[in-house]
Amino acid sequence: MNWKEAIESKYEGESSILNVLNGDELTPFTEIIWRVSQEAFESPKEIQVVIDDNDELFMSVGTASFVDFPHDMDGGMKLPIKCWIHTHPMGKAYWSGTDMRTLKSWHPLMKSAIVLGYREHQTWQKFDRQMKHVRYAHTKYLENPLHIEKTTNPKGSGNEVEKVIE
Ligand SMILES: [Zn+2]
Repeated sequence: MNWKEAIESKYEGESSILNVLNGDELTPFTEIIWRVSQEAFESPKEIQVVIDDNDELFMSVGTASFVDFPHDMDGGMKLPIKCWIHTHPMGKAYWSGTDMRTLKSWHPLMKSAIVLGYREHQTWQKFDRQMKHVRYAHTKYLENPLHIEKTTNPKGSGNEVEKVIE
């Protein structure tokens, strides 16, 4: 399967994100997003996954920020967004300046957000505006190695996004 199918296969509905947001846990869903970010391409890439109000997943690779996401939204995203998830392939999970601007501009239409790093994540929820940072011993839900096709030239990530923008 390709990387998008691999991520889809681990999405078990809202519990996949609620256990992260409220239970401070890693789930198979967030673990596979991190692993894809690290392992599915020739070099680590930023992955973004947006869960819309219909529980549909919209995914992109190598985008600099959510602001760039509308190019991929032709499929008809149902607002509000349940969760915006992205990885920081360098490993540190924090809200960067770009991320803060994204949260600020999207918060009327976004319920929650998660940034994934190496054995850590940070979450944001609209209802209390609280940001939580969580570290964990790596919980291994997934097999080693991942059985996904390597993508050598991911769509939407030309040379100009080889630099890591957090
Ligand atoms: Zn970020």
